[in-house]
Amino acid sequence: MTARPDGTTGEAAAAALPGQADLVIVGGGMVGVTLGLLLAQRLPALRVVLLEATRFPALDPERPLPYTPGFDARNTALSRRTIQAFTDLGLWPQLQPHATPIHHIHVSDRGHFGLARLNAAEENVESFGQVMENAWLGVVLLAALKRCPSVTVLDGVRVTGLRTAADHAEVSLVAGAPGDRSGQAGGEDAAGRAPEAHVLRAPLVVAADGTHSRSRDWLGLSASWRDYGQTALVTTVATSLPHAHTAYERFTGDGPIALLPLPDEPGAGQPPQTRRSLVWALATAEAERVQALPDADFAAELQRAFGRRAGRFTRVGRRHAYPLQLMVAPQQAVPRALILGNAAHSLHPVAGQGFNLCLRDALVLVEHLAAAVRDGADLGDAARLRAYEAARQQDQAQIIRFSDSLVRGFSSNHPALSLLRNIGLAGFDLMPGAKPALARYAMGLSHV
Ligand SMILES: Cc1cc2nc3c(=O)[nH]c(=O)nc-3n(C[C@H](O)[C@H](O)[C@H](O)COP(=O)(O)OP(=O)(O)OC[C@H]3O[C@@H](n4cnc5c(N)ncnc54)[C@H](O)[C@@H]3O)c2cc1C
Repeated sequence: MTARPDGTTGEAAAAALPGQADLVIVGGGMVGVTLGLLLAQRLPALRVVLLEATRFPALDPERPLPYTPGFDARNTALSRRTIQAFTDLGLWPQLQPHATPIHHIHVSDRGHFGLARLNAAEENVESFGQVMENAWLGVVLLAALKRCPSVTVLDGVRVTGLRTAADHAEVSLVAGAPGDRSGQAGGEDAAGRAPEAHVLRAPLVVAADGTHSRSRDWLGLSASWRDYGQTALVTTVATSLPHAHTAYERFTGDGPIALLPLPDEPGAGQPPQTRRSLVWALATAEAERVQALPDADFAAELQRAFGRRAGRFTRVGRRHAYPLQLMVAPQQAVPRALILGNAAHSLHPVAGQGFNLCLRDALVLVEHLAAAVRDGADLGDAARLRAYEAARQQDQAQIIRFSDSLVRGFSSNHPALSLLRNIGLAGFDLMPGAKPALARYAMGLSHV
């Protein structure tokens, strides 16, 4: 366990676990960490404690973060609104060297005539957004959070319970046990003893503990699930053609394929290699088969599914699998606690909207909390949390509907659906007024 920002580690930090905070964040993934940064900037007088089950690796500004569940092998298409938020946090200059702008979006349907192209210059924007490796986001965001004096980050600390009372919420947590080598806190020690639980109280707890949030259950909040029966294979590929800042979304009857531009890999004495991020959604059994293929066979199958618009796939990296579902919690707040990020809604990545939507939730939440502080009100006040929920309803519903209908409309080989979507795509490409409207949604890249 590492206690921050004072740098105490191990046993010293275990002894220093706080008992009280103004606000507790459960989960140090992209959403929990970003919320911590937003709170530190907007409300620096709040004492915030962030609890993360995994131990964060040592940070090296020259290297992407080694694997953590929250900052993993994925890449994230950051919308213009998200970039603005990181700019306002003063972090964009550190993120930008690792980001690749998207100037063109190309949407197609395999084996059919429909095709839509979006061009940033035609929409009068510099880019639709930027693609970033999560591992680089992790290095920059975590280093920035460590510098925030109002936020204490406790990693290697697993929350084991959450309950609310009239005037506070309370989390139970266990810190990493000496014998635990899993990287997850809360394991038994070498002698098989369960670690002792510690209780932390705050007027408000925000749970950003992911799609399978235990906090959601502890708070008695329900979730509705739709299993898409698909798994996304995520990897980095090299292609023979330069990416020309183009993001491809290619629909196939088996599932969508997204190919996003990444920074080139400099070659020692060779021309730089074009790198792209691949998210290939397939029926789960098929994804398992394809994931296990040798690199050359994987590249050949990908070539058949994607076509030759990016040139030849000359190299493929390690593949990671993500089962895909839509999960939505219709109610996201109770007095003194709320769920945020994937704990509140988790989408199919087809449109690259998930994190961008979560970040807009976080921005609005921080504004509501700032108003509470300004009014001298209680942070966990039920009416104010309900107002936050109400303020987020429309944006969440629109994005969820949009990405769900893309998956369901395009992941089908039914001839009627196929004809309809191709007329839609072709018509869209020809219809001048349609582009700016879709450009705002396409791949989550231009939402303002
Ligand atoms: C393949 C794929 C591609 C995607 N691409 C995009 C994209 O291009 N653009 C976009 O906007 N979005 C994208 N998304 C969505 C985006 O990745 C998620 O919305 C985002 O990662 C959610 O982050 P989170 O912090 O809410 O959850 P998580 O990343 O799941 O983090 C939850 C954290 O909580 C911790 N935790 C869990 N339980 C406990 C506990 N009991 N105690 C303490 N800590 C706990 C976990 O260890 C973890 O670190 C994509 C998703 C997928 C699957």
